[in-house]
Amino acid sequence: MQGSFEALIGLEIHVQLRTATKAFCSCPVDSTAPPNTLTCPVCLGHPGTLPVANRTMIEHAVRLGLAVGASVNPVSTFSRKNYFYPDLPKGYQITQFHDPLCSDGRLDIESVDGGTRTIRISRIHLEEDAAKSIHAKNGVLLDLNRCGVPLLELVTEPDLRTATEARITLTSIRQLVTYLGISDGEMETGSLRCDANVSVRRCGDAVPSTWTELKNMNSPHNVETAVACEIERQVSLLRQSMVIQPQTFSWDDAADRLVPMRSKDTTSEYRYFPDPDLPPVEISPALIESLKATQPELPAARRERIMDRYHLSAYDARVLTAERSLADYYEQAASHLGRKTPEAFRTLCHWTTRELLHAFKEQSTGRDYPVPPDHLAFLVDRIVDSTLTARTAAKVFLEMIREHAHPGDILDRNDMVQISHPERIAAIVATVLDRHPDLVEKYLSGKASLRGFFIGEIMKATKGRANPLLVAQILEEKLEKRRAHP
Ligand SMILES: [Zn+2]
Repeated sequence: MQGSFEALIGLEIHVQLRTATKAFCSCPVDSTAPPNTLTCPVCLGHPGTLPVANRTMIEHAVRLGLAVGASVNPVSTFSRKNYFYPDLPKGYQITQFHDPLCSDGRLDIESVDGGTRTIRISRIHLEEDAAKSIHAKNGVLLDLNRCGVPLLELVTEPDLRTATEARITLTSIRQLVTYLGISDGEMETGSLRCDANVSVRRCGDAVPSTWTELKNMNSPHNVETAVACEIERQVSLLRQSMVIQPQTFSWDDAADRLVPMRSKDTTSEYRYFPDPDLPPVEISPALIESLKATQPELPAARRERIMDRYHLSAYDARVLTAERSLADYYEQAASHLGRKTPEAFRTLCHWTTRELLHAFKEQSTGRDYPVPPDHLAFLVDRIVDSTLTARTAAKVFLEMIREHAHPGDILDRNDMVQISHPERIAAIVATVLDRHPDLVEKYLSGKASLRGFFIGEIMKATKGRANPLLVAQILEEKLEKRRAHP
């Protein structure tokens, strides 16, 4: 890294778990509900109420622990983290402090040079979310619906060395939680949040100098940019022999910079103590076995399987499996293909990772892919059996999106089917050549570049529908024939 310095980076990733109800009460979890409609005495912390831990929340967290090879602790406990803040009506947050649910996991990430790096995960624990603060013109508004929503916190060891590794680690965790189905993993809506701890030291120093904390980064890209900024800041201070203060920064996305928030809190300020209302969580070996047996296919395994099953390159398999929803889409479409040949699978992959993904990113609304999988499979079948040229297929694809129509209907309505009959193409080629006797002569006397002109004229005459391979072949034959019999 920068000169004789190296950075140590650790991440704290918060994942909102996908459960029907909150962590310790039966209020529904629904981020689309009107503000302050999903609360009860338990999640508002009224005196005399008793919390009860949500079983699904615990199982979700164990699933992630198993996926990263962590030890699932047979007994874990809940504590109270005491602090006053308007978004915390109870005055404390229930969290796992002393004995987390899982510890000592490992995550293999791909390093920038194409190798693999192992990042140690120190713990995975459960806690409850606080209310959502909405900064309005006339003050701060609170939505207590989010109070008590189950959160999982995953803490890595400071094993990351670059800002890019921080981004890759976050992306890998996001991929894992979506493949496991335990969270929607969306950073824009706050379902996945990430804080980073950064410290720069001189290479060779055994201990890091000072830790600073970065907050409010709402995309993997922001994490990378913010961490890079902070490393640069600390290096510059160290070069000037200045002292780095322990501090918390907030990432200001609009201004693209870090803003100091406060001096860093220390754990002693929170007065943690075991929550007297919640019994310890006991995880039986039988539960672990049953979760292991029902663990969904994880990204690395799916990548390998998709590569083998559909005869794809490692690169294509990687693009398809980056998002679980895209891999699901591809496999559904593949099941609808008429002919399940390697060529058809590869053509489908091309259309999924390029045209479909491009259209998906272009669309302003909705999270669904713009074309149903069976419709794309139908289109790909027509390309593979040469009914459609790639160019015509692209036009049909645009109409499929615009009109939400089946490609079969679009083809029936418009005259778009590829002309593949050699006699029809031969007749068109002859007409074009007859129309330009002077250019044919020039071509035959050596001006080879005119070939492109002839092809252009033939395509114009067929509105781009002629099979390009046949056109090239028949044109060649006809020109050679004229050379032999001028
Ligand atoms: Zn409640």
